[in-house]
Amino acid sequence: MVNSRKHPYAKCEECPLFETGKYVGTVGPANAEVAVCGESPSRTDISSGQVFTGPSGRLLDTVLEHHELEKADVLFTNATLCRPIDGSAPPKSAILACRPRLISELEDLLEIKEEEEDEEA
Ligand code: SF4
Repeated sequence: MVNSRKHPYAKCEECPLFETGKYVGTVGPANAEVAVCGESPSRTDISSGQVFTGPSGRLLDTVLEHHELEKADVLFTNATLCRPIDGSAPPKSAILACRPRLISELEDLLEIKEEEEDEEA
């Protein structure tokens, strides 16, 4: 059976990046304090298999440090989990196809934070 999705909540079968895009998944704890969402994985992200590496990652490190946030407490993701092979911005159709996955990840995060707050109350 041919796998029709790279992520269970994404509409990969409708995505122009499904066949050729390079995939890098979301990283971070399920109960992250903060979520950071970029556009799509960078070239260095593809090489390393990690999101927010390279120049953007270094800039982000500075921003997190300024706000006294630990990287381990942050969820890192992108509007599209795949990078176009030519390095261009992802097309709108790819962003729309990947959106259910992004919303699901953020909803899960909010749900866990609400549960934690209820337990503390
Ligand atoms: S960008 Fe998202 S929707 Fe498109 S193929 Fe990658 S995981 Fe699937």
